[in-house]
Amino acid sequence: MKKSPLKKIPMVDLHRQYKSIKKEIDCAIFDVIKESGYINSRFVKKLEQEIAEYCKIKYAVGVNSGTDALYLSLWALGIKQGDEVITTPFTFIATAEVIVLLEARPVFVDVDYETYNIDADLIEKKITKKTKAIIPVHLFGFPYEMDKIKKIAKKHNLFLIEDAAQAIGAEYNGKRIGSFGNTGCFSFFPSKNLGAYGDGGIIITDSKKLAERLKILRNHGSKIKYFNEEIGVSSRLDGIQASILSVKLKHLDKWNRKRREMAELYNSLLKNINWIGLPKENKSCNHVYNQYTIRVKNGKRDKLKKYLEKKGISSMIYYPLPLHLTKAMRYLGYKKGSFPVSEKLSKQVLSLPISADLKKEEVKYIVDVINRFTFD
Ligand SMILES: *Cc1c(COP(=O)(O)O)cnc(C)c1O
Repeated sequence: MKKSPLKKIPMVDLHRQYKSIKKEIDCAIFDVIKESGYINSRFVKKLEQEIAEYCKIKYAVGVNSGTDALYLSLWALGIKQGDEVITTPFTFIATAEVIVLLEARPVFVDVDYETYNIDADLIEKKITKKTKAIIPVHLFGFPYEMDKIKKIAKKHNLFLIEDAAQAIGAEYNGKRIGSFGNTGCFSFFPSKNLGAYGDGGIIITDSKKLAERLKILRNHGSKIKYFNEEIGVSSRLDGIQASILSVKLKHLDKWNRKRREMAELYNSLLKNINWIGLPKENKSCNHVYNQYTIRVKNGKRDKLKKYLEKKGISSMIYYPLPLHLTKAMRYLGYKKGSFPVSEKLSKQVLSLPISADLKKEEVKYIVDVINRFTFD
């Protein structure tokens, strides 16, 4: 077997990325320090404008995290106690957590086995008089089929909030993900496609009214300091993160293309292994592969993960437990078997290393190792 080109292959090597843009990043950080532009500074406004332009939308509002982007979106849209919000149980907990924080009820709809996204054909059955919104998740960077869900939302007069935390730069029919709903929510968590050097997030919207309300909510309910209009929270994106992100945004399309190239290479090398299901691609979608997630169909997913680990290859399970089976969400009353596809996926999925900085030889090595996996 070929020797590993690296001692270890991590899921993402953030330091490798930093080294490739070190000068630009160091300058960007220094610029903020020079003028102490830490909070509510021009650096944040600049990034907001750049993200809005990038997504071809009118407004962008920087916040503390992707979670807060979702939370403030729901809050600004008036989601409250007793409302129902439809989403998927096969996602990161933040998607459903924010619904609970507003004392509304998450109503789960199972996902499609190949796209890992909400099965649009199952949504209408779950709509009641209390339903106020739907949160589709563009999981792993694969754009959700927005035309179908937009039609459903329109027909039933529901808000649409896109959880695009993993999908910045992705497109559906040539339009940026995040720009279809009432709001689109992005996360700048370091391992996302556009990652900060800490926490951060942003909300995009075409509604001026909504953008203004979001700006007030993120800043203690005030437009003018000490003249608070309502109760809000402290959820600002800081100047240093914004300045770093402005630099990285210029590289994002190139980085997303590289992710797609690495995914294509994985696909071509893995396609003949009959116990592996590959991530779905679709002509109308530009998948940005925040994760490259396969389905291990021989029941040996956990064994494969351990085996890869021994060979120095990291892999991750996103997600090992669907939300309806977590202790935190048990109160909703769902049972084992409530969402069979999500439950099956949680036993099969395995995400392999992918990033713009991953090398072809590394992908080849990983596949080489997988090919030698024996499972009797
Ligand atoms: C990362 C992520 C979030 C939350 O973003 P944070 O910035 O970590 O708060 C929400 N939803 C999904 C699907 C995510 O992957």
